[in-house]
Amino acid sequence: MEIGGRKVRRNKRIEVESSYPCTLQFYSTPPSGNVSLLEFDEMATERLKILRAVERLNLSGQVKNSEDWLNKLYDDFAKNKYFVYSAEKISSSKRDEVEAARRRDHVSHFILRLAYCRTEDLRRWFIIHETDLFRARFLHSFKNGSDVKSFMLANNLHFTPLPQEEMQSERENLLSGTYNISSGDLMEGRTFYKVPFTEALELVRQRKVLVRGGFAYVPDTDLVTLVSTAFRANLSQALASTNRALPQLEDDERLVRLLQDFDKRYTGTDYSQRKGTDGPRITPDIIDQLAVKSFPLCMRQLNDTLRTSHHLKHGGRLTYGLFLKAAGLSLEDALHFWRSHFLKNMDVDKFEKQYAYGIRFNYGKEGKRTDWSPYSCIKIIMGNIGPGDAHGCPFKHSDQAMLRQRLINFKVSQQAIGEIIELVGKGHYQIACQKYWEATHNAPLETGINHPNQYFEESHKFHNGSSSSTQTTQGKKPSQVKTNVSVMYSSQPSSQLSSQSSVSSSSQATPTTTTTTDHNNTNTNVTSDVDSAMFDDDMDSAMLEQYMETAEC
Ligand code: SF4
Repeated sequence: MEIGGRKVRRNKRIEVESSYPCTLQFYSTPPSGNVSLLEFDEMATERLKILRAVERLNLSGQVKNSEDWLNKLYDDFAKNKYFVYSAEKISSSKRDEVEAARRRDHVSHFILRLAYCRTEDLRRWFIIHETDLFRARFLHSFKNGSDVKSFMLANNLHFTPLPQEEMQSERENLLSGTYNISSGDLMEGRTFYKVPFTEALELVRQRKVLVRGGFAYVPDTDLVTLVSTAFRANLSQALASTNRALPQLEDDERLVRLLQDFDKRYTGTDYSQRKGTDGPRITPDIIDQLAVKSFPLCMRQLNDTLRTSHHLKHGGRLTYGLFLKAAGLSLEDALHFWRSHFLKNMDVDKFEKQYAYGIRFNYGKEGKRTDWSPYSCIKIIMGNIGPGDAHGCPFKHSDQAMLRQRLINFKVSQQAIGEIIELVGKGHYQIACQKYWEATHNAPLETGINHPNQYFEESHKFHNGSSSSTQTTQGKKPSQVKTNVSVMYSSQPSSQLSSQSSVSSSSQATPTTTTTTDHNNTNTNVTSDVDSAMFDDDMDSAMLEQYMETAEC
């Protein structure tokens, strides 16, 4: 696959050398043809969103492979018009659309292989969610009588059906040893496959199938497990070989830039576009009240520090200032808000000279006039916190005893505190935050938490009666959240986190553009040098500008 030039060619169709006869793919052959950088980025982001949707649903406590799980997943795919949905529509009039969707599927899978083959944790995450996606698509195709058989034939997935004579001789054993088949009626018209038990380990472990003489007898309803096991093994091998080939692939600097830290890419709502015109608008006089009622713990902590010490260090001002901007605070109100606190510790001249510039900068009125985006959870969680800093994610950066005490002060129930602390102990910070939202709103939150502004918007909608939670489930017990890897934060060994955080952690504002991320060494070094001065809070306007402009990420 060639990566095309930098020019945007939005409407140009990708060259197709071969057609895609089946909805499902085993991704055995890499795609060929030209892909522009823009398409490359769009396809990769779309697949990342799909895999995160699968992860989010799994974490919500839905039983994997159940009818509900499948329906919810496909509702999401249809709502967001993801290729998974359009790749299945079989109609001669939409042949081109189907072909393009299948091509997107093919290319995006290979792009993400490049991004996710780098470490053991990334590979594990990718294999789990790709296999779940494949499983869902197989079940959906099977249910709709689509091209499952031709897919299996095309990919040499031959499972031999049990001969009729053996089926009769093993009838009693099959009835007693097969899950969900307990009567002769349920055996009628059913096909069983006899496979080495190592190919059906999942079913054997769950005691769902009969095992005799080293073979497992798998009913056709569990065919999906056999095929997904083969898919998983195939993908695992492919990722290992992609990883070995990585040094040659990374000769292309454009690829490196596009794929670096891809797993940490924020794929939620772009809050920088809202600028307070959509959704809630806030004014300085209601901020304290909102902080108690609707702000996530990270922002409530910043507001509390500001109220008590009338000052925040640079990282805190940036994090909180951008959050308030996206929450709907106008520039005039922001200047008024910060001034009203800071003037308790300094005179107007000092405020205007050292701090007003930074506030206007956040709103794109100074320096490069960039419309800076507020920080997502992953950026806050991955950030480095120094002594005296009030920013950061309290679920990640606070001492557990302090966090517990704070939750007690906020009158969170003992049971919820126990669950939150347990989640924090396992490194599931965003799920702990979701639990906190549920405990303080006494309602379930199905969307999960991936951005402080999303937390605020969900709360605002809840209190104003427009949330789906308030319409359908208010008053019910919050759903039990399964503990697993959180939606956006990839739980990686701390050694890796600290090395990665040197790139993404410093108190940098993020420009609105969501395409490529330039983390070259020069920028990182400049940023960290200026960082130490920044945290001393002795920085004048000129230094701030230099800092912000060199700190784009
Ligand atoms: S999970 Fe996100 S919203 Fe919640 S406290 Fe941490 S950074 Fe804030």
